[in-house]
Amino acid sequence: MIIAERKDLARLIGMLEGRRSILVAGCRSCVAVCQAGGEREVAALAEALRLHAAAGGLERSIETVTVERQCEKEWTREVAPMVEGKDAILSLACGVGVQVMQETFPDVQALPGLNTSNMGAPVEQGVYEERCGGCGDCVLHLTGGICPVARCSKSLLNGPCGGSQGGRCEIDPETPCAWDMIYRSLLRLGHAELLEVNIPPKDWTPSGHGGPRRIVRKRAVLEDEET
Ligand code: SF4
Ligand code: SF4
Repeated sequence: MIIAERKDLARLIGMLEGRRSILVAGCRSCVAVCQAGGEREVAALAEALRLHAAAGGLERSIETVTVERQCEKEWTREVAPMVEGKDAILSLACGVGVQVMQETFPDVQALPGLNTSNMGAPVEQGVYEERCGGCGDCVLHLTGGICPVARCSKSLLNGPCGGSQGGRCEIDPETPCAWDMIYRSLLRLGHAELLEVNIPPKDWTPSGHGGPRRIVRKRAVLEDEET
């Protein structure tokens, strides 16, 4: 899922300067799971903004809504009646959601309430870690299911580097060495032979360095695969 965290309240207040009618819009998907932009966070932020407005004698109306998925117009269109007449949408979705909101409602500015960080997973209550760097050419079948791109501090495709010590990364001893984990995982899976495989330099073209990436699924191909 996409991991994000909320911007500081002071920063949000600065962004909203001069806006009188605001819709705080959450998303029920990834950002709700990582407790950054779900219904609860929307309600808490709206309340904080109302208190700030009251304390400063600002005339400001703040409404709230939480969309099933802000990254799909099919869902964002449903909130059109709530967007009507607003000066701004303060979106608590990931960066994708903010942009889809802006595309859906091009005449009302969509402001980012979150900082979108990475594609990751919860590892314990309230702790989320990056798991995938979206490189576009997955090699997890060679690395025991552990991503060398996102989890090795140097994104080494053939590790470990010379600095791995006692299973910890030389860049940050708090971080487990990804290549130590890869080694152990491959042994556990009975695929030690993969440690002999030199992963060739990656073709980084699908990783997004040449402009926005696009995947086109052809209906006929999907139907073929299903039969
Ligand atoms: S190898 Fe690439 S696609 Fe696979 S998990 Fe790592 S970054 Fe993601
Ligand atoms: S110590 Fe391990 S995780 Fe850290 S940079 Fe070297 S190989 Fe990568």
